[in-house]
Amino acid sequence: MRRPFVAGNWKMHGSKAMIQTLLAELVEGAKPLESVDMAVCPPSVYIDYVKQGLVETKISVGGQNMADVAEQGAFTGEVTGVMLKDVGCDYVIVGHSERRTLYAETDEQVANKVSIALAEGLTPILCVGETLKERESNVTEKVVGSQMQAVLDKVGVKAFAKVVVAYEPVWAIGTGMTASPQQAQDVHAFIRGLVAKQDATIAESLIIQYGGSVKPNNAKELFSQTDIDGGLIGGASLNAVDFLAICEAAGDACSK
Ligand code: PEP
Repeated sequence: MRRPFVAGNWKMHGSKAMIQTLLAELVEGAKPLESVDMAVCPPSVYIDYVKQGLVETKISVGGQNMADVAEQGAFTGEVTGVMLKDVGCDYVIVGHSERRTLYAETDEQVANKVSIALAEGLTPILCVGETLKERESNVTEKVVGSQMQAVLDKVGVKAFAKVVVAYEPVWAIGTGMTASPQQAQDVHAFIRGLVAKQDATIAESLIIQYGGSVKPNNAKELFSQTDIDGGLIGGASLNAVDFLAICEAAGDACSK
């Protein structure tokens, strides 16, 4: 049985004041939520502050991105995996569609980041997903398959014991256009199948989150699907009540 995992991607949102309020509500509400792993991924400048605020809880902290080079050095504006680990991160989001589209990150860079994250003891949350145009052209599996394959080729299937995959259809992120449970399940099963071709045991234990306009009112149905093991939550993770309701839905629905 896979333990559900829900992570909040705060994107470029927050201030110390806002974080204080959000964390107070999360800390209070998360206490009874023992059946789900939870993480929040704040902007990097707030990671340490958030980590301190969550010290009494089991909620983990993650980065939203990291450099695709392992060593410290002359890379102005970048943050290494070592630094994320140093300030208490357990996770790092890698290959989010906003990084792939707005900052032209390639499959090769994403694969490098996964490799570096693993070497630093961080669990990468590897984001994959197709655009609306790609879905309408019936190439979803081709696109998601090659995003996955680039990482499998780089780190090998055994490394996926320590990787979380997030299927995030680009057209569903921040749009309110959630994938239907069946649409999401089909791609999740495809991803698991791809990994299973190389290692059935790793595939069976692989956590595959769904991300894209998950809200309290659609979470349970999505998370009830056989191959959906929780979610990567953007907008709704900035509201403690909504985020906790989504985590609770994961705990209820994913006990499979
Ligand atoms: C995301 O940013 O990864 C995301 C899934 O956003 P939202 O939940 O707002 O669609």
